[in-house]
Amino acid sequence: MSNSVLIIDDSPLLRQKVVESLRGACLFDNYFEANDGFSAIKVLSREEIDMLICDVMMPKMDGFKLMEMLNKEKRFEDIMVIMLSANRGIFDKIKGLESGAIDYMTKPFHPHELALRVSILLRMKGLQKELKAKIVELERVTVLDALTGLYNQRYLYDTLRREYNRSERFNLKLSLIILDIDNFKDVNDTFGHQRGDVIIKEVARLLQTMLRGYDFAVRYGGDEFIIVLSQSTVIGAHIVAERLRKMIEENPLLIKLNGEKNVTASIGVSTFPDDTKEGYEALINRADQALYKAKREGRNRVAYGRL
Ligand code: GH3
Ligand code: MG
Repeated sequence: MSNSVLIIDDSPLLRQKVVESLRGACLFDNYFEANDGFSAIKVLSREEIDMLICDVMMPKMDGFKLMEMLNKEKRFEDIMVIMLSANRGIFDKIKGLESGAIDYMTKPFHPHELALRVSILLRMKGLQKELKAKIVELERVTVLDALTGLYNQRYLYDTLRREYNRSERFNLKLSLIILDIDNFKDVNDTFGHQRGDVIIKEVARLLQTMLRGYDFAVRYGGDEFIIVLSQSTVIGAHIVAERLRKMIEENPLLIKLNGEKNVTASIGVSTFPDDTKEGYEALINRADQALYKAKREGRNRVAYGRL
């Protein structure tokens, strides 16, 4: 990533001195110059700028007017501004910092001091960027299941609650599929836990192939998965559930991993508002009851949540 600075001052000599101070310390890849606020805005609209070094008193548009314009626009919020002014009074400094500048220096300046202050700010900015990226990554992992990459229970509860409320408000159907692998303990006991993990991952992959735009799949527990099908009727959910059941039963990799025997799964389906109107937890419970019905009735089948 390249760093760019824009130096705004009506004196070409001063701009040149600033550029030389920063170049000497190799602080930026690109240097841009402007002689007042108006021409600065022109540069800002064409270039990605990381830092402004900005005079206060300039013809046409002064430093404060420029700050006002920058503060109004979200796309400029990450730009750091150092004010570099001949006004040395404490109230000028306060006004400059209050306008949104991150630092205020006075003219004449010492090149070494300017370079040092800029390099400290760039370092701070770099750390801030790293922190932001880490937070984004952390937010991503906290909602994902480590083994399968599907969403986890935390995501399910947050998202299903919202999806349920939306369905209630807009009178939309909402279906939920719970799937549990049949006799999975036997697979673990016969072939070991690691082989069991590979089977769980393959089932998760198959689940993902069934998703449309707003649907999502969750690893609910050990060998148990949930698919949330937004705006889906019981007939839509039935089609998905049956297709999934068959896909698992006939999947060549799963058969191979299971000592040439079919891996099968039982599935419970529930639909709002047909099966329950008592909230998203009730919708999960209803699908869970259907799942146990499917298990009781012999496994490798789909059962429904209507009581
Ligand atoms: P059922 O047909 O009634 O579902 O029988 P089951 O043997 O599949 O029983 P159940 O679903 O209750 O048990 C799931 C088993 O899955 C229990 C546990 O040993 C195993 N398991 C849970 N998490 C993992 C995991 O991350 N990896 C592996 N390999 N096995 C797991
Ligand atoms: Mg099971």
